[in-house]
Amino acid sequence: SIEVKGVTKRFGDFVALEDVNVSIPTGQLTALLGPSGGGKSTLLRVIAGLESSDAGTIEIEGVDATRLAPQKRNVGFVFQHYAAFKHMTVAKNVAFGLEIRKKPKDEVRDRVHELLKLVHLEQFAHRLPSQLSGGQRQRMALARALAVEPSVLLLDEPFGALDAKVRKELRDWLRRLHDEVHVTTVFVTHDQEEALEVSDEIVVINNGRVEQVGTPDQLYDEPANDFVMSFLGEVT
Ligand code: ATP
Ligand code: MG
Repeated sequence: SIEVKGVTKRFGDFVALEDVNVSIPTGQLTALLGPSGGGKSTLLRVIAGLESSDAGTIEIEGVDATRLAPQKRNVGFVFQHYAAFKHMTVAKNVAFGLEIRKKPKDEVRDRVHELLKLVHLEQFAHRLPSQLSGGQRQRMALARALAVEPSVLLLDEPFGALDAKVRKELRDWLRRLHDEVHVTTVFVTHDQEEALEVSDEIVVINNGRVEQVGTPDQLYDEPANDFVMSFLGEVT
């Protein structure tokens, strides 16, 4: 699990996260849901170690990660605008993390093949990222993040830049992928429908505070307060 305990993050005088406590169970697909500026990305970055917190601790699968560098946390992440290596083929991009870890060549080849199959990009292995669609690029990014077998996958609005139809396809696909791979996944979105349809559990964040944690049904049937009620009720 990911245990976030008493995490506070300030930018100057501004409090972006205030005493955040949340437990994200192993193997679940969890959404961080909330309005723009609520603190979703900041919390994800603190979990990833890309941002330090001013107070509190982060534990990842039983290890105190609070002071660990990002690359020591065994997390994979994908952002909204994913930066691929433009001069490398799709296969090379996916292989990169394995190659810098000096994995044997045949092991890398097999794993890349398996990953590209998983994200349905086998036939695009030898293309450059610029020759893919936006949705295909984000799938490549997911394959790349999964390549090093992270214990945790952190996705910050990975489909945010795509049009509504492709978003919907990818979110269904993410659900199926997760059902196959079962890696603990935290997925940021400001889209209520996306969170309600895809995730096992939802953490609602607003003004740097956790408003509620629950399954889609729990949030829908028993919103903890007016904010959750009106936010879930908003149609996007
Ligand atoms: P969005 O849905 O728009 O991506 P978010 O929930 O991800 O929003 P964050 O990016 O976590 O929001 O930002 C939370 C608050 O912290 C915002 O008010 C933002 O302006 C502020 N903030 C984030 N990063 C910094 C920074 N590096 N310096 C100063 N303020 C920051
Ligand atoms: Mg954000």
